Amino acid sequence: MIPISKPSIGEKEIKAVTEILRSGNLVQGKKVAELEKKWAKVCGTKYAVAINNGTAALHTALFAIGITPGDEVITTPFTFVASANSILMAGAKPVFVDIDEKTYNIDPNLIEKAITKKTRAILAVNLYGQPADFEEINKIAKKHNLLVVEDAAQSIGAQYKKKMSGNLGDIATFSLYATKNIMCGEGGMITTNNRRFYDRAVLFRNHGQPPGTRYVYDGLGYNYRMTDFAAAFAIEQLKSLFTITKKRQQNAHTFSKALVKKKGIIIPEIAEKRTHVFHQYTIQTSPQIPITRDELQKKLEKAGIGSNIFYPKPLYDFPHFGSFNKIKFPVCEKISKSVLSIPVHPSLSRSEIKYIIETIQNI
Ligand SMILES: *Cc1c(COP(=O)(O)O)cnc(C)c1O
Repeated sequence: MIPISKPSIGEKEIKAVTEILRSGNLVQGKKVAELEKKWAKVCGTKYAVAINNGTAALHTALFAIGITPGDEVITTPFTFVASANSILMAGAKPVFVDIDEKTYNIDPNLIEKAITKKTRAILAVNLYGQPADFEEINKIAKKHNLLVVEDAAQSIGAQYKKKMSGNLGDIATFSLYATKNIMCGEGGMITTNNRRFYDRAVLFRNHGQPPGTRYVYDGLGYNYRMTDFAAAFAIEQLKSLFTITKKRQQNAHTFSKALVKKKGIIIPEIAEKRTHVFHQYTIQTSPQIPITRDELQKKLEKAGIGSNIFYPKPLYDFPHFGSFNKIKFPVCEKISKSVLSIPVHPSLSRSEIKYIIETIQNI
């Protein structure tokens, strides 16, 4: 079976983690601080805060920018559940708006209509590794005095107008979960240029304790700290950012070149002003072919090719988010029924890529 994702773990990661285990300093050591410094450098931001996973990073970021119960946060319904759950975790209300048909990211043209007196922020997600339209999103945010959160869980290394993902809004969050482009099993990161947001994130991560103090609590906080062995792992991963990103982009390019003329298969589009780091390579089936997306997935599986649907159900389908009228989400409705992500990870061999292309063509 060719898996949809495969963690790339080399000797350098094993060595780095082993060193931490042998040292006995598993938490609150030097590696977390080193990772934060390096991550901020990659993103071009002043600050980075290491967190124990991407969901906790989102929760922390929303606290850091001051989201409180009763606030509304505008976001996309076509994302991993954590993006919108974090809004609920902050006690606020997610307000979904439909997505753009080409990038699958939040459609900036629909945001203004969703703004109310309670709106405090826009949480945009860079789905599959392609940045949302931050120029437009930031413009709207400025006009209405809102803050912008970038969920960059899938987009480390991507750029928008030459600016790095992680530096596209007021605050950004990353996930270092095992399937992400840069990972350490479980991990998260926050980036920002705002000193106040940074200070608040640092407090929230550690029970509300100001750095350098003990048993002093400046309000409610959580234990969202990262371990030093996870940080050591992530530092080694980050060294390969350029090569793994290039490999993903090359693999994607090979797929697109071969599939672009295939009737009934829609290949990913890269919108202007940005780069795509292909956390996922996602095709769509169109009604031009007499086979559904689900049938295509079954046939790929029979041929030993793993694939996945990100995401089979829009988030407004889940009642814990409140009730939304599906009529307002025609693009999301359509896209969630036609997308299929196929393997694009850096460990794919040339012959595996060739086999995937031939199999799709034959089907
Ligand atoms: C993975 C992911 C998250 C959550 O990260 P975890 O580390 O799994 O908690 C949030 N948002 C998006 C878009 C993701 O892909």
